[in-house]
Amino acid sequence: MDIVLDHITKIFPARGRKKNSREVVAADDLNFTISNGKLCGLLGPSGCGKSTALNMISGLLKPTSGEIFFGDQNVTELEPQERGVGMVFQNYALYPHMSVFDNICFPLENLKGDQKLSEEERKARVEEAARLVHIEDLLERKPKELSGGQQQRVAIARALVKLPKVLLLDEPLSNLDARLRLQTREEIRRIQQETGITTVFVTHDQDEAMSISDFIVVMKEGRVQQIDTPQKVYDNPANQFVAQFLGLPPINMFHGKIENQILYIGENPVARVLSASDQPVHVGVRPEGFLLKEEGALCDRMIRTEITGRDMSIVSENEASMNPVVRSILSAEDLQILAENQQEVHFDLKLKKVFLFEPESGNRIAADLQPLQKAAEEIVEAAIVLEEAA
Ligand code: ADP
Ligand code: MG
Repeated sequence: MDIVLDHITKIFPARGRKKNSREVVAADDLNFTISNGKLCGLLGPSGCGKSTALNMISGLLKPTSGEIFFGDQNVTELEPQERGVGMVFQNYALYPHMSVFDNICFPLENLKGDQKLSEEERKARVEEAARLVHIEDLLERKPKELSGGQQQRVAIARALVKLPKVLLLDEPLSNLDARLRLQTREEIRRIQQETGITTVFVTHDQDEAMSISDFIVVMKEGRVQQIDTPQKVYDNPANQFVAQFLGLPPINMFHGKIENQILYIGENPVARVLSASDQPVHVGVRPEGFLLKEEGALCDRMIRTEITGRDMSIVSENEASMNPVVRSILSAEDLQILAENQQEVHFDLKLKKVFLFEPESGNRIAADLQPLQKAAEEIVEAAIVLEEAA
């Protein structure tokens, strides 16, 4: 079942009479569809409105304006329990005095009318949900006898037991340690694919969102910045915020300019630019976008190399860099090119990994980047043609 957010806005009114108390636009004109059976990663920094958006889908919050549809049904005015959603939060919120079985069964206890289930049916449902999250052996235990990861599985089973049409997860992995986080996110993906439930997964962790989402909605200050598959958001960021939010190590940002169809990082000419006018720019280069070249266009001061098994990083300095250091990722074989005690390091850039942004707005500048060398060759060729003509 598709989830449609139709121009949803949520404004929290100012509190009290203090002068500095202002209303908060927590969600600003959210307008997108989560297609049936997809896992949507809702990604952005703390305070950007992710929980607000999720809580409007669940019905815990009512939008200030706009409408929400589940399939053809307008659910905007429906209470949470009328929407058929399962929810999982950061803190597992299990009942400590109840067994795992009873915790999972709890949402089924109060079903009324034709939804009411017999004891047998309830047992079957609990066992099915427990099996799905691999905790069928733990049903007799109390929550305090479980690890954090197991507790979160119980919470997920409890969300699934009513066979919801929609699964909503709000930073469900934040309380887990690093290894469990990795494992549990894969579990969530598996469960989502097995059940085919349309799912919204809220996180501030770009790696988490990238690894399990069918598509990502990147938010900042209540507004959607970009909606796309993880790979496309990474390869083709809509603006500087998105470029900087996704990727680890983060993208390298530089002050630069376009002058006479040449792109400069600082004073280094690094590429030819077609179809963009002369202007100051911010240049983003992904860490994997550097090529070690003795005659390379970009000249940095060498700080150190870091070897992490498969890859090598060069940490260097450039006056035009907006980050404290420039970090490039190369293959360990490249290390052999480097001389010992090398003071400077030169790079060519992989132009697919280079993005230009307007300094003020951060908007992406659509520009066709070409290698400098090619430009030089073409000039020589043109000169030859002219000479021959003469
Ligand atoms: P996120 O989940 O992305 O961290 P939230 O959706 O919780 O962000 O919050 C978005 C913004 O709305 C924040 O500025 C937050 O302070 C504000 N906010 C959230 N809930 C309320 C509320 N009940 N009353 C007033 N402001 C709120
Ligand atoms: Mg939140």
